[in-house]
Amino acid sequence: MRVDAVTLFQSMIDSPLSESIVGRAREEGFLELGFVNPRDFTENRHRTVDGKPYGGGTGMVMMAEPVYRALKTVRKKNSVVILLTPKGRRFDQALALELAKKKHLIFICGHYEGIDERVTPLADMELSIGDYVLTGGEPAAVAVIDAVTRLIPGVLRKEDATVNETFTDGLIEAPHYTRPGVWRGQKVPEALLSGNHKLIAEWRRAQAQELTGKAKSASAVKKKPAVRRKNFK
Ligand code: SAM
Repeated sequence: MRVDAVTLFQSMIDSPLSESIVGRAREEGFLELGFVNPRDFTENRHRTVDGKPYGGGTGMVMMAEPVYRALKTVRKKNSVVILLTPKGRRFDQALALELAKKKHLIFICGHYEGIDERVTPLADMELSIGDYVLTGGEPAAVAVIDAVTRLIPGVLRKEDATVNETFTDGLIEAPHYTRPGVWRGQKVPEALLSGNHKLIAEWRRAQAQELTGKAKSASAVKKKPAVRRKNFK
């Protein structure tokens, strides 16, 4: 897959996506990541890419023309152009699976107060990674590219590694444990130590259903405390 990012801050994407599984996917050619900077498409002496908002207000707005020109250099017939914005469609695993099948994705990353609204019709999709405001589209692009890349066949060493994952089959994944069997007084559930594959599968399914049931209503998720403290010995 080819991915291009239209961004003023390349390293905010390039650096985090050079590590771990995505870094390896780039080295092995599963993901080809390119960047295009709107600043290279300005015509003024100072290479200015932003201006004051019409109607007044704080902050600066990215101008449409440099973004348009930058996009034009990478856009092809089969490209899916994604404009990152907090008002976009909420990103989720189903969309990650859909995007992982595409040949070419282009992410337009806003910064400052955002991009001139007239750029919006250039995109196939407006996308948000959640109901909060980031400094720029770059961290959002990182999250989406990461989630999509690990779904490209061959990227994860075991092909089935994503099959039972949270959200893939509509269920939250059962919890994982590794050595030691007892850690600071907390035991690994008996079923997982049984060596009985049927029992283990049943336990995992039951856990997944229970966790999914608990998280089902959005309000339940929101009310859940961020950290469940335990007193460690
Ligand atoms: N003034 C805008 C507003 O109130 O909606 C926020 C602009 S934000 C500071 C700058 C850029 O960050 C946006 O243009 C967008 O590209 C990106 N961004 C911020 N939050 C985001 C989110 N939740 N999902 C996707 N992109 C986001």
